[in-house]
Amino acid sequence: KGLKKYFPVKTGFFNKTTGNVRAVDGVDLQVMPGETLGIVGESGCGKSTTGRSVLRLLEPTEGEIWFDGKDLATLGKEEMRRTRKDIQLVFQDPYASLNPRKKIRHILLETLEAHGIGTKAERMQRVEEIIEIVGLKKQHLDRFPHNFSGGQRQRIGIARALVLKPKLIIADEPVSALDVSIQSQILNLLKDLKKEFNLTLIFISHDLSVVKHLCDRVAVMYLGLVVETGDKNKLFSNSMHPYTQALLSALPMAKPGVKRERIILQGDLPNPANPPSGCTFHPRCRHAMDICKSRVAFLQEKESGHLVACHLFEENTETKPGLNSIVE
Ligand code: SF4
Ligand code: MG
Repeated sequence: KGLKKYFPVKTGFFNKTTGNVRAVDGVDLQVMPGETLGIVGESGCGKSTTGRSVLRLLEPTEGEIWFDGKDLATLGKEEMRRTRKDIQLVFQDPYASLNPRKKIRHILLETLEAHGIGTKAERMQRVEEIIEIVGLKKQHLDRFPHNFSGGQRQRIGIARALVLKPKLIIADEPVSALDVSIQSQILNLLKDLKKEFNLTLIFISHDLSVVKHLCDRVAVMYLGLVVETGDKNKLFSNSMHPYTQALLSALPMAKPGVKRERIILQGDLPNPANPPSGCTFHPRCRHAMDICKSRVAFLQEKESGHLVACHLFEENTETKPGLNSIVE
């Protein structure tokens, strides 16, 4: 709720703070148990920062993070450490996220030990179960990370997240470092695991086609803000925000013969230390109106569960509460 993460910009000889990069600038998101929420957007839109702030691997600047009846943002170090058992992260780069000097068995066991789970024998059994659940073999436990391919390493990364039986998994671009041919194997694994264990997943990706494969609901982020969110099918068939439409137009069509106009976005992602006024998408938006330069567009529900932040969909902007904040 209202999650913000600003990074100070320091310049000059005295390292003076001269501004903030607003990586996440007031994000509201919700994930229900058993649901997979996809967060999509270009690199630099704040999706990873959002994921990391939820776990407080980055300290949020502002906002609430409600999980299981607790606001994680207010927890002390020790309580937060204990809560991390229930929220696990799958990293983008399986090469960098596994200690090269430790055997897989050790890597998985130490995760359980760190949270004081089970007896030694129980931990051993759990590790042997989990390695097979992710599609590897028991013999693999006695090898080192360098003995595995990228796809296998990501399976180990997933095993490490699952071994604690977490209530929530945050997967940050878990397939983008892999060859395309391997990506679908890992996505299918996640899809199967999700079904089998009723996982709750936040899946972060810059790739809409990946998100389409796996997620129930999607949130599209642009420059630190959610600009559209809704049920996956609704969002893909009836997207409203011009940015979502541009992202979707780049996807290959499922039906041959059906043509879709490719919307090319003008310019680059603006500098988040100095975002454009009003709707921050306005310099790149082909529907931009005068009001877009001066007035922030807030998320509003357009149909049940489908929210969009765009002046095109506001009935009466003059009387809308919350729309009075005109950004200079
Ligand atoms: Fe485009 Fe204006 Fe909508 Fe922003 S508010 S997406 S600039 S039409
Ligand atoms: Mg990222």
